[in-house]
Amino acid sequence: MSDSQKIKKRTCPLCNKSNNNNYLYYESNPWKLVQCECSFVYMPEVPVFERMKNEFSWERNFNKNETVSIKKRVRRFVKGLLKRDKLKYLLNTFCKSGDILDIGCGSGAKFDNISDIFTPFGIDISEESAREANESFKKRGGEAVCAPSTEVLDKFGKNKFSGAILRAYLEHEHEPFEVLKNLKYTLKNDAYVIIKVPNYASVNRIVRGNKWCGFRFPDHVNQFTPKTLLRMVRDANYKVVKFNFFDYLPTSDNMWMVIKPK
Ligand SMILES: [Zn+2]
Repeated sequence: MSDSQKIKKRTCPLCNKSNNNNYLYYESNPWKLVQCECSFVYMPEVPVFERMKNEFSWERNFNKNETVSIKKRVRRFVKGLLKRDKLKYLLNTFCKSGDILDIGCGSGAKFDNISDIFTPFGIDISEESAREANESFKKRGGEAVCAPSTEVLDKFGKNKFSGAILRAYLEHEHEPFEVLKNLKYTLKNDAYVIIKVPNYASVNRIVRGNKWCGFRFPDHVNQFTPKTLLRMVRDANYKVVKFNFFDYLPTSDNMWMVIKPK
């Protein structure tokens, strides 16, 4: 199969408009970003799922084989602790005990320090990560599967989950709006969804340009600003529960949001 056959074209994930020619300066040949009239920034051409699964790694595995200085390792370790603590804090604050679905679960390591009142379930596009997560989730009564989210969400059944984690996930998803919509079917009425995505509106993106850490071609196919993230979750019929200034500081490369089904 030639390379061009392995590429999928998409319309704007936020407003569904096609023929967006407003190419941005940011790119990594052949992957490009466009800004739609509705202001959403996305990759109009993306690798097909099989190719993603086999040839491209998600950021969780991104630095696996890289030689890393001690200073960098310490910084990553501390950063990792903070990140997990924020997730842990939000889970404990909002979600009731029960089954929690982690979309883009990676190896499942983020559940290591999360309370036993939560049973982990996960979906990941990488076979190796999903297998690893499945091993550890099974010990806690849960499971992880390898598939595109749009295909498996309903298989978990109606009203199953007390919460969902979409951390470092929506920027990878080819169909983020459909996933948000379909996710509601498997959530309980009083469930909460915790979201974390890179903040395209961050000062760092403007200063660092193409070198900004939120760009990862071709893995990051969507780029959210506070405004476009809000519009997408509201259009998918969620109520925004937590999204204050400190969740999307312009000085931060990422933003956090908590939503619930309407
Ligand atoms: Zn649009």
